[in-house]
Amino acid sequence: MKKINENLTDQELFVLKDKGTERPFTGKFDSFFENGSYHCKNCSAKLFESDTKFDAGCGWPSFFQAIDGAIKYEDDHSIAGRPRVEIICANCDAHLGHVFEDGPKETTGLRYCVNSVSLDFEAEKNN
Ligand SMILES: [Zn+2]
Repeated sequence: MKKINENLTDQELFVLKDKGTERPFTGKFDSFFENGSYHCKNCSAKLFESDTKFDAGCGWPSFFQAIDGAIKYEDDHSIAGRPRVEIICANCDAHLGHVFEDGPKETTGLRYCVNSVSLDFEAEKNN
């Protein structure tokens, strides 16, 4: 991870830097569906728009699409026999979560499964 934001909490560092995972159904954005955009908690880069967020029922905020170029993908073999694709912030290399191919078929078919603590929300401006 590149330059670390000094305001991060221990739990945010556990996820963003040490690639931890928050417990499901505990994150503040799991069942949160306001209009706006989601940004990297570490560097504030814009990662997702609220109109690509959906309720996957998995306990973590889920998106079917990311902002173009905002995400980097890495093979993750940390669980034996269960290869996954890790998603990290393209700007600062912070860990965000994983992407799976079980998203809504009528969209991209992808499910970006993201930790709430990796994200900051910015409400849409109405004027
Ligand atoms: Zn970042």
